[in-house]
Amino acid sequence: MPKSKAILNRFRSDGHRITKARENILKIFLASTVPISAAELNSCLVTVNVIVNKTTIYREIDFLKKKEIIRELQFGDGKKRFEKWPDNHHHHLVCISCDSIECIELDGCLEAEESKILRENNYKTINHSLEFEGLCGKCR
Ligand SMILES: [Zn+2]
Ligand SMILES: [Zn+2]
Ligand SMILES: [Zn+2]
Repeated sequence: MPKSKAILNRFRSDGHRITKARENILKIFLASTVPISAAELNSCLVTVNVIVNKTTIYREIDFLKKKEIIRELQFGDGKKRFEKWPDNHHHHLVCISCDSIECIELDGCLEAEESKILRENNYKTINHSLEFEGLCGKCR
């Protein structure tokens, strides 16, 4: 069973209505390999002929956030973006010129260093994020 179908079944059994918008927004997030903004989500919806207003988009984003299907990310540009909850812990490369974003996994060494810093400063790790800002291949 595709992942989107399993999630929709779960929503249904929890008593949530499955609207065309909800179904398509879920599919877009699951299919996207990079974080997207609400505006980008809207353009994706338009290409599949699903026209919804801004309020609906933000309501659906909130809904998927609460259900822990997606998470919110904020980078140096202050824009909010959303991506599906990752199966693997990862980081982001952010292009300061064209706003493109890539998800990257670091090797064990830097990850170990991250946990060491938190441990040595007596921080209990809940979550951490580390982003790299620069110019992407197209912009440099
Ligand atoms: Zn760029
Ligand atoms: Zn990511
Ligand atoms: Zn990390």
